[in-house]
Order: sequence, then C-alpha cells, then structure tokens
Amino acid sequence: MLNRSGLDLSAGVQAYLSRQENKTLLRFITCGSVDDGKSTLIGRLLYDTKLILEDQLAALESDSRKHGTAGESIDFALLVDGLEAEREQGITIDVAYRFFATEKRKFIVADTPGHEQYTCNMATGASTADLAVVLIDARKGVLEQTRRHSHIISLLGIRHVVLAVNKIDLVDYDQAVFDRVVQDYLAFAKPLGFDHVCLVPMSARFGDNVSTASNAMPWYDGPTLIEFLEGVIIPDSAIELPFRFPVQIAVRPDSDFRGFAGQVASGKVAVGDDVVVAHSGQQVTVKSIVTADGALSEAREGQAVILVLDDEVDISRGSMLSHPRARPLVSDQFQAHVIWFDRNTLIPGRSYILRTETMSTPASVTKLKHRIDVNSLALEAATHLGRNEIGVCNISTQMPVSFDAYRDNRATGNFIIIDRMSNATVGAGMIDHALRRADNVHLQAIDVTREARGALKYQKPAVLWFTGLSGSGKSTIANLVEKQLHALGRHTMTLDGDNVRHGLNRDLGFTEADRVENIRRVAEVARLMSDAGLIVLVSFISPFRSERLLAREMMAPGEFLEIFVDTPIEECARRDPKGLYKKAMAGKLANFTGISSPYEAPEAPDIHLNTVEQDAETLAGAVVERLIGGRFNNT
Ligand code: ADP
Repeated sequence: MLNRSGLDLSAGVQAYLSRQENKTLLRFITCGSVDDGKSTLIGRLLYDTKLILEDQLAALESDSRKHGTAGESIDFALLVDGLEAEREQGITIDVAYRFFATEKRKFIVADTPGHEQYTCNMATGASTADLAVVLIDARKGVLEQTRRHSHIISLLGIRHVVLAVNKIDLVDYDQAVFDRVVQDYLAFAKPLGFDHVCLVPMSARFGDNVSTASNAMPWYDGPTLIEFLEGVIIPDSAIELPFRFPVQIAVRPDSDFRGFAGQVASGKVAVGDDVVVAHSGQQVTVKSIVTADGALSEAREGQAVILVLDDEVDISRGSMLSHPRARPLVSDQFQAHVIWFDRNTLIPGRSYILRTETMSTPASVTKLKHRIDVNSLALEAATHLGRNEIGVCNISTQMPVSFDAYRDNRATGNFIIIDRMSNATVGAGMIDHALRRADNVHLQAIDVTREARGALKYQKPAVLWFTGLSGSGKSTIANLVEKQLHALGRHTMTLDGDNVRHGLNRDLGFTEADRVENIRRVAEVARLMSDAGLIVLVSFISPFRSERLLAREMMAPGEFLEIFVDTPIEECARRDPKGLYKKAMAGKLANFTGISSPYEAPEAPDIHLNTVEQDAETLAGAVVERLIGGRFNNT
C-alpha cells in the first residue's frame, strides 16, 4: 500500500500513522518556582512516553551516577537541564517546545526556564498553551513565584490548570500536607477565574502519579497526570470566533495578480464571502484562496494563505480583514494589562514601540491605573512598573490599531512592547477594551494651517531643541540665538527648563518618571507654538534619548533641530552658574543629572556645539546660520 509520500508501508504501520494523525493535540506549559521539579517532570514525561533515544538514555544513566542528585535512580532533570545549558551557550531560544505522544493524544509542552528573570519566556510559552501544569514543592507550599505564574497564565487566557504537588515522597506521601497546599492554592486562585483545577499529588522523580498510579498514596483516587492530560477537553473556540485575517504582506508578482498573504488568526473564510478592511471599512469579496499546494474553497484558523479579492482596495501590512458583521475594534487608545520584563522600569509618557501580530507603532502609556500585587491580587497605586510587575494601563498609539479584547480573542488581543533604544522586548500586553474617549475626540480640521501662519510671518516654523548637562550653556546660547533671530525679524519664543518648571510643570519633580513627563509636556507645548508659526527655542537638559526622539517625531520632518551643547561635566562643575554642582557633590541634591541621574548624550545631533573651544556668541551665530541659510533654509 502506498501512502501519500509514495512509500510502501505495511498495513500495521499505515494504521499507526493514521492513528497518529487523528489524535488531538494538547499544548501545555509547566510553571512554578525554581527547583519545584519542572525539568524532572518534563524529563519523566519524555521518558515514560519512550521518546528518549536509547543512546541518550545510556549517557543519562552514567551522568546520573556522576552528577545526579537522585542516588542510583535516573536524574531526569539532567536531561532537560543539559539541553538548557546548550541553549544558553548557543543562540538563545526563548522557549523550547518539546513533543511527545501517548496512545490517545499528542502533546507539545512549552519548556521555559523557571528563574525569575525569565518571566518573559514563561509568558511567551503560556500565550499559546491550552493548559498549565503548576508545580509546587510539597515541602515549600505556595510561593510568590507560584502566585505570579498563576496570575500570568490566567491573564493569558488559560482556563485549565493542573496543580501538581510534587516531591510528595519527601513528605512521606502525607495527605495532610497535600490538603494544606491545595487549600492555600485554591484560596489564592479563586479570583483568577480558572474553569477547572485538577489536583494531583506526585513525585516526578519516582514517577508516582505521572503516568502510573502510585501505590504509596491509597488516599488519592484521582487520575494520574497523563490520564488527566489525555482526557481533558479544551473547546476549540478559535474556530467558532469571527474571522480575523491580519495581513502580513501584499503579494503582487504582476499587474494581474494582487493578493494578501497572512495566517487566519481565527474563524474561517470561504470563496465568495464578503470581508471588510478594518481600518477603512471598505468591503470586498474573496475571489479565490491560494496556497502553495493549490487553491482552496475555504481557509480556517491557523492556515497560511493568500486571499485574492475582487476589487482594488487599499490594504497594507498591518491591516486586518474581518467579517462585515463581526468587526474588530479600531482605536489608538485602549486599556490593557501589561506584564513588564525589563530591568528599566516602565514609565508613563515614555515612547515605546508597540507591536501586534502585524503592525508596529510608537506608543506610550498615558496612565498607569494601578499595579497588581501578585500575592494578594490587590490593586495598588503606582507611578511605574518594575521588572516582573503587572499593571493596568491606558495606552495611546501613534497609529490606530485593529484588535479584539484579549478575553474575546487571544490571537488579536495581545501585543508586545519594544524598547526604542535597545530593541529588546520589555513587556507584553493583553488588551481589555478601547477607551471611549478615542471615539469621541476627533481632530478638528483647521483651515488656517501652520504653514499659512508661518508664511504671514515670512518664516518656516521650527523647533530648536537645546540639550546638554546643567551649566553646559544651553540657556546662554539659546538666549543669544533668540536675540539674533529677533534682530533679523523672526518671530520666536523660548521655553526654558527652569521657567516652565515654575508654571506648567510645577507639579513635577526630578524622578525619572517626572523627567519623562516634563519633556513630554514641553514637547507638546513646543509643537503647539510651532503650529502657531513660531520658531521655538527649547532649552532643557532633556537627559533621555527616547524623549528627545518623541519630541522629534511630534514635529514635521525637517522642522526639528537637536542641538547638543557639549560641555564636559568637569567644566560644567567648574562654571557651576547656579551652585547646583556644589550642592549635588555634597550629597544635598538628589537625582542631579551627570552626578546621580544619567545623561544620554545624543548620538547624531543635528548641530553639535563644543563650548570649550568656542565662545557662546560664535556658537549662537553658527546655529542662526544653519537655520537661516544653508541646509535649513528658513525663509
Ligand atoms: P544651562 O542652561 O545649560 O544650564 P547656562 O547657560 O545657564 O547653562 O550656564 C552656562 C554658563 O557657562 C554661563 O555662566 C555661561 O556664561 C558659561 N559659559 C562659558 N563658556 C560658554 C560657552 N562657550 N557657551 C555657553 N556658555 C558658556
């Protein structure tokens, strides 16, 4: 008998293959605190399901004798940890997905490092899992990391949990210990909204209740872990969800063919269906569905296809196609739960990149509504989010995003947050809902434009952004530049750090969060003033690159000049025009830039002024020359 790949297979093998194909797949994740036995459990599952190769086994037996902590028996943790060490040396794989199968079902287990600094990987693994096995060391009970991980899996939409009370052999298989742990956990997890928590006392090391029922615990009559995993029914909700197709790329090999490639995120679509482009509301009909293996009449969740539409539509990467009567939300403001991974804290007002399935856009947290205490699940007031903390935030994006609430659709309701400077993933989010005000606040079209206002003054609006350490000479040079521009008949306005802090920003201090907000407000004011047709001089230390980038992005291209007033800190301290260095060095001034708070020098400023080599008047002349004449022709 020939199978699909043309091989001649016996009836037995053929039957085996078709049984494998028809088995359902369960994706799960194991989590819990370090040393609760996660590696041992995964090793045990692979071993019990006979997926460990014979030669690996032989090596493992001898390694266990040499390095193991399990006496004469095999130390399964060595198997998985060995792979982990490999992983750490080579290119880092964030999450290792391990495959195994039993007679009844196929499994993919997301194996993620348990240390606290890897919460990010744990969240990644959980985002595609249907179920979580939460491991607890019977001797230690419910720990903070158990609570944190349980909270994260609940946020990520996992509704089925196995509470594996492990190392039960080390507490003499004592039912009282098991009952106590179970009680603690269930009391904590009640508000997390799991549909079902299966409670299993187990010893991953000796195999009790992993795949075979234990004789040591006559008081337990529930299923083994494998029995439960084989039997648990996870409704395949994604198929029932409305059709969502985030467009990855427009395919246009020639003028006759125009298709849109992507993966069906949820639901299904058939040839002849009407679909709409979420951003524009434009409606079209699906003409054909193309794949590498030929045409289809229908595409379902998970399938990667090219949709050919009957009409020319404006669709680019980031657009989402949906069913006309079940559309996603489109908004540039929404509330989300955010898990923060980075050592640098999340600061409201700071500009990050928000990336969804298909699009990236600059975004910032406009309000941190509260932080969630992982132990008590209480909501606390907070000004920032630290590493591994979870908060509820209002988020504003530069471009509108198409999405669903995460609780309605896991595929289209999540995003990651990327740091603009390091490009590292610093957070993950689950969208709760769009903010009503985004629907009600619309930009008012104004007939008299900024160009028109500038033209009346015979000038082009511009923002000259002076950045540098305190005492570097920003105010001195900006003042001279303004005098020269004024003498030339230009209409100007200066925003000076100290002056603005006396008025608009008098509620702000010098913490990192306040400095970010300080600059955000000043950039908004500079923007409004440049809209009024003015040449705006901003003289602020503005120590962080991301905020200066934010300011630049608010202005029209070419109308923002970053001017780095470059003076070594020793020289600033020598000048010390306001006596601040003296105070800071005596420890009497907290968060002083250059001494106890960082200054991130511009990497590619538009103008670089060296105040040690040239006097202020000459430097001001150079700025005016650059603005009025030459490349930045301001006429
Ligand atoms: P900032 O606004 O950056 O805090 P200030 O302009 O208030 O700094 O102070 C800078 C001090 O350095 C002033 O006392 C100024 O006279 C002095 N200074 C000396 N040389 C220069 C120069 N080349 N450019 C600007 N300022 C200079």
